[in-house]
Amino acid sequence: MKETKGIDNMKIAFLDRDGTIIEDYPDKDWTNVKYPDFLEGSIDGLSYLQNKGYQIIIITNQYIIQDGIIDESQFFEFHQLLIKELENKGISILDTFYCPHNDQAQCQCKKPKTGLIDAALIRYPKIDLSKSILIGDSECDADLAARMNISFYSVNKSLVNKSCAYIKNLNDIRDYL
Ligand SMILES: [Mg+2]
Ligand SMILES: [Zn+2]
Repeated sequence: MKETKGIDNMKIAFLDRDGTIIEDYPDKDWTNVKYPDFLEGSIDGLSYLQNKGYQIIIITNQYIIQDGIIDESQFFEFHQLLIKELENKGISILDTFYCPHNDQAQCQCKKPKTGLIDAALIRYPKIDLSKSILIGDSECDADLAARMNISFYSVNKSLVNKSCAYIKNLNDIRDYL
């Protein structure tokens, strides 16, 4: 039996998707978005995280599914393109957890609720949250990180009052890690 210590423990970079890795749009505009538009520095930043030993998990609120702006198959198709494009750049995404619900559903997964990370912890019990980080652009990302006690980095300057480090894009994470 191997000890499940040290190197066996997984450190994860939990990444928000829209507005963090790729361009975000007003909700209604998502109907017509077919290809992911990677933000400046995001490919380099993800590569850096990977080289630093972080495995990457995307956690994303997609309430526009329940709102009827896109359907689930549209989400999967688009997201697969994104995963593929990252793979072509040598970046592998360990997994994606998404919430399709709007507030009416009163689900447990819409960030800042903890369901997406709870699900990740069930699927990957070796995740070490104390070594993991969360990067996002929204208040819900900052609040989720706080609830889970995960170090948070914001790519949105207006969140600096949320007691987190500001990075102007993902590539600047190298200033901290
Ligand atoms: Mg976002
Ligand atoms: Zn949900």
